[in-house]
Amino acid sequence: MNKPSIYGLTLDQLTSWLEERGHKRSRAAQVWNWLYRERVADFTAMTDVNRETLQLLAEHYSILTLEEHTKQESVDGTVKFLLRLSDGNLIETVLMRHKFGLSVCVTTQVGCNIGCSFCASGLLKKSRDLTSGEIVEQVMKVQLHLDQARKDERVSHIVVMGIGEPFDNFEHMSNFIRVIKDHKGLAIGPRHITVSTSGLAPKIMEFADSDLQVNLAISLHAPNNELRTRIMKINRAYPLEQLMPAIDYYLEKTNRRITLEYILLKGVNDQREHALELAQLIGDRRSLANVNLIPYNPVDEHSQYQRSTQESITGFYDTLKKQGVSVSVRLEHGTDIDAACGQLRSKQIRKAQ
Ligand code: SAH
Ligand code: SF4
Repeated sequence: MNKPSIYGLTLDQLTSWLEERGHKRSRAAQVWNWLYRERVADFTAMTDVNRETLQLLAEHYSILTLEEHTKQESVDGTVKFLLRLSDGNLIETVLMRHKFGLSVCVTTQVGCNIGCSFCASGLLKKSRDLTSGEIVEQVMKVQLHLDQARKDERVSHIVVMGIGEPFDNFEHMSNFIRVIKDHKGLAIGPRHITVSTSGLAPKIMEFADSDLQVNLAISLHAPNNELRTRIMKINRAYPLEQLMPAIDYYLEKTNRRITLEYILLKGVNDQREHALELAQLIGDRRSLANVNLIPYNPVDEHSQYQRSTQESITGFYDTLKKQGVSVSVRLEHGTDIDAACGQLRSKQIRKAQ
């Protein structure tokens, strides 16, 4: 049995774990400092920590459990990591460079069971959830990659938008967020963390009630049930009559703005009438919602979908603007390196099959 990564523990959890085994509370803070500030790869490098404590930790935990399989760098500075989990499964993590900082897109599951009709990740059924340690470790892998270049760069933003449905792995996703937010650790600000969901309504409410306090993005992609069910079968389980009230609950509870993601698929959901219907659906939520238009990244297996023309994208944007909806178009990163979610992984796996 492989040992889990110690990165899966919050500082409180590590403190209790050590205390329960008769070790001093203060040791947890020391270990934490070595993990997140010094970023050492081995317990033996924690030179000021008591030997028995290190021995106990090494018996139960690893620090790094992920191995780099391949790394692709794009001309725009995007880096896509294909990582191997200790059980051999492959996952993807992406580093993106923006004007406002460096963001990392993390994976939460091996594959995805939601099976949206346009997505490469859903091509491979979920084989398991990632542990919180494996999700934190993705960020650490990227941070270690940056450390190597010695430019003093720091991961500042996190998007939970890689392979998988984060709300179908709620506990590990939540623990991951608690770990990366910790001021004494990676200290990533809650406003710099965004979780994206395909719209599991009950989990959106649970998220609103939680202590996590980070941003939420909803993959809406269509302005009515008929179209949404056609492209996202999850809409059968959680149609708009359930999703929109869950969004309202979130808005009321958290006082935060929300992002509505909308992939533009040529001739499917990108017409003026769809933009008008979307504005209507958003209705009174205009002041609290931002629509993020996503140019579709074509997937070989889903050849029924193409990217909307630039003219349609601009037209859709303008129509929403005129309706008083706050809207942006997602900038693309690493289009030369298969940067759409799940594409690199699914290609790699199919090549190996
Ligand atoms: N499962 C979650 C988070 C991961 S997907 C969710 O669905 O929200 C993150 C975002 O990428 C979602 O909005 C998803 O719809 C979008 N996406 C998936 N495949 C895409 C593709 N080929 N091109 C552009 N965006 C894609
Ligand atoms: Fe899963 Fe999200 Fe892809 Fe849908 S879009 S199949 S929920 S990863």
